[in-house]
Amino acid sequence: MTTDWKDLESQYYMFVVRRQPVVIARGEGTRVWDVDDKEYLDFTSGWAVNNVGHANPQVAEAIERQARTLLQTSNQFYTVPQIQLAQILVENSCLDKIFICNSGAEANEGAIKLARKWGKANRDGAVEIITAFNSFHGRTMMNVAATGQPHYQEIFEPIPTGFTHVDFNDIEALKSATTDETCAIMLEPVQGEGGVNIPSVGYLEQVREWCDENGLLLIFDEVQTGLGRLGTLFGYQSFGVEPDIMTLAKGLGGGVPIGAFMAKDHAMAFVPGDHGSTFGGNALTCAAAHASTKYIIDNDVSGNAAVMGEYLGAALNRLKAKHDAISEVRGMGLLWAVLFDSDISPAVVGACNEAGILLNPLRPNAVRLMPPLTVTREEIDEAMERLEAGLVAATRG
Ligand SMILES: *Cc1c(COP(=O)(O)O)cnc(C)c1O
Repeated sequence: MTTDWKDLESQYYMFVVRRQPVVIARGEGTRVWDVDDKEYLDFTSGWAVNNVGHANPQVAEAIERQARTLLQTSNQFYTVPQIQLAQILVENSCLDKIFICNSGAEANEGAIKLARKWGKANRDGAVEIITAFNSFHGRTMMNVAATGQPHYQEIFEPIPTGFTHVDFNDIEALKSATTDETCAIMLEPVQGEGGVNIPSVGYLEQVREWCDENGLLLIFDEVQTGLGRLGTLFGYQSFGVEPDIMTLAKGLGGGVPIGAFMAKDHAMAFVPGDHGSTFGGNALTCAAAHASTKYIIDNDVSGNAAVMGEYLGAALNRLKAKHDAISEVRGMGLLWAVLFDSDISPAVVGACNEAGILLNPLRPNAVRLMPPLTVTREEIDEAMERLEAGLVAATRG
C-alpha cells in the first residue's frame, strides 16, 4: 500500500524533497504504475531522464547483457562500451572530446574545472565564469555557486567564488559583466528548472559572437536540453549556436545515472592527472547510454519530440483559452511550463495525480511537463483530458 511505504520513508529517509504521494512500482513507455497498480501518464520522465520511455527494450537488453559481462574496471583500462559511447556522441555533435562521469552536477564540475584551467593558460590567468540568474547547474558546492538562485546559496556559505550572474536574455548585461578576469560564459540553451525560459530570438547568437570577439569559452549546460528534449539531438542545434564545451546527463543514460562533458579541441586544456573518476565511464552505464543514444538517433526520437512538442504546445494553448486559471504556456520540444494566475500548482499536481497524470510542480504557480520523447499523439490527447480534469478539480475550490 502507498500509505505504508510513505510511513516507512518518513521514518528513514532525509526530508529534503517534498514528494508526491505516489509509490511508483514499474513503467513502460510513457506510463507508470504505482504499488496499488494505479496507472499514470508520466509527464515528468524522472526529471527529463526517461527520454526513450520507461523500460525501453533496447536499453534493458543492453543493461542485462553488460551486467552479465562486465560492470566496472576503473579508467586505468580501456573498455569497449565507453569508447563506443564516446564515438557516437562525438560523431553526432560539434564537440571533439568527451569525459564521462555520473551526474549532471559532476559534468558541470568538470566543465568548470576545464574552463578555469583553459583560462589560466589562455586568458592571462582569468578564471571567472558568467552564468545566468534563474539558472540551475546542480547541487555540489561549485554548482551551487554557479547556479544563479540565491536561495540555493545562502544556507551553504561560504561557497566557492569565481562566478558572476546576469539576467538571461540580456546581452548588454553580459557585456558589462565581462572583465579581464572572465574566461567563460555558461548557460542552459533553455533554462529548465528556472522556469522553462526560452532565449529570445538572436540572444544565443549574440552570446556566441561576444565570446568569439573576446576570446571567451561558451559552455552550454545541456544536462536537461540534450538528447532530444528540444526537438534536436542537442539543444544547441535548435539555435544554430555551437558551444566550446557542453555538458550532458539527464537523458543520456535512458534512466541510469551518467553524465558527460564534451569539449572542442581548442578548449581541451586537460593533461593526464587533471581529472578523473572511479565510476565515471563504467561499462554498465556506458552500455545503457550507448543503447539509449543509438535508439534516439536510429528512430529519430528528436524529430518525434519536435512534432509532438508542437502538438502538445497547441493543446496546452487550447486549454489556456478555455481556462482563466492558466496565465501562460511556454516551451519548446517536449519541455513545457504551464503558469497559473495564482499559487495553485500544488493543488493542480495533486488533482492530476488523482486523474492519472504526473506533473512536476515547478513553482507555486507553475507546473512543468516533460514526457518521454517517444510519446504519441494519442497519449498526449489522453494526457490533456487528465490534465483538464485535474485543473477543473483543483480550481473548483
Ligand atoms: C538537473 C540539472 C543539473 C544537475 O544534474 P544532477 O544529475 O541532478 O546532478 C544540472 N544542470 C541542469 C540544466 C539540470 O537540469
